[in-house]
Amino acid sequence: MKVKENYNQIRSAIQEACEKANRKPEDITVIAVTKYVSVERALEAIEAGVRHLGENRDEGLLAKWEVLGDKPTWHFIGTLQTRKVKNIIDKVDFIHSLDRISLAKEIDKRAGRKINCFVQVNVSGEESKQGIEPEDLFEFISKLAEYKNLHIIGLMTMAPFTSDEDLLRSCFRKLKDLQSKVRDLNYEFAPCAELSMGMSNDFSIAIEEGATMVRIGTALVGEKDQEV
Ligand SMILES: *Cc1c(COP(=O)(O)O)cnc(C)c1O
Repeated sequence: MKVKENYNQIRSAIQEACEKANRKPEDITVIAVTKYVSVERALEAIEAGVRHLGENRDEGLLAKWEVLGDKPTWHFIGTLQTRKVKNIIDKVDFIHSLDRISLAKEIDKRAGRKINCFVQVNVSGEESKQGIEPEDLFEFISKLAEYKNLHIIGLMTMAPFTSDEDLLRSCFRKLKDLQSKVRDLNYEFAPCAELSMGMSNDFSIAIEEGATMVRIGTALVGEKDQEV
C-alpha cells in the first residue's frame, strides 16, 4: 500500500503550488477523505502523517470513530441531514457543509461547545450542487450571529467535475472573492479566514487561488480499497 508515497507526492505538489502563489505549505491543511475506504486504509493515512480525516456520511464516520477515536481530527464534509446532527456532533471539530438555517439551529442546539463551520457556497451555479447561492450568502451569514456554538471559520465549495482549468480557477476565485467580502464585515462570530476548496483533481489550482484546507480522497487513500 502506498498511502505514504501518495502523501509525499501530494505534499510536493502542494509545495509547488505554494511556490507559484507565494504561499507557505504550512498554511495548507490536508484532509484525507476516507469515505470510499476501510478503517485500515484510514489508519495508514494517519501513520503516514495525515492529521485530519473527512467523512461525508454519519455511518462512515461512526464506524471509523469506533476504531480511531480522536487520533485524527474529524471533518464532516458532505450534505448533513438535520436529524443526523446528533449522531456526529460529539465526534467532529469541523463541519464543511453548513447551507441552511435549520441546520445551523440544530448544530447550535446539539453542540455543547463551539463547532468550526464552513458555509458551503454553490459558486459553479450547477443545479445539482449543494450550497447557498452567492447572492444569498451575506444575508445567510448575518443570520448566523444568534447561534452561539457556531464559529464560522470560512467558506467551502465543490468545483464542477471538469478538467477545464479556467473554469475551475474562476470558481475558486469567486469563492475567494466572497470570502474577502465576508471578512470585511468584521463579524466576531464569522472571521472567515479559511477556504475549504480543492479535491484530488484540482487541489493544486485551488491552492494557487487561496485554499487553506484541501479535501483529498482518491489521490491520497485510493478508491474502494483497490491498490493505490
Ligand atoms: C468525496 C469528496 C471529496 C474528495 O474527492 P476526491 O475527488 O476523491 O478527492 C472532497 N470533498 C467532498 C465534499 C467529497 O464529498
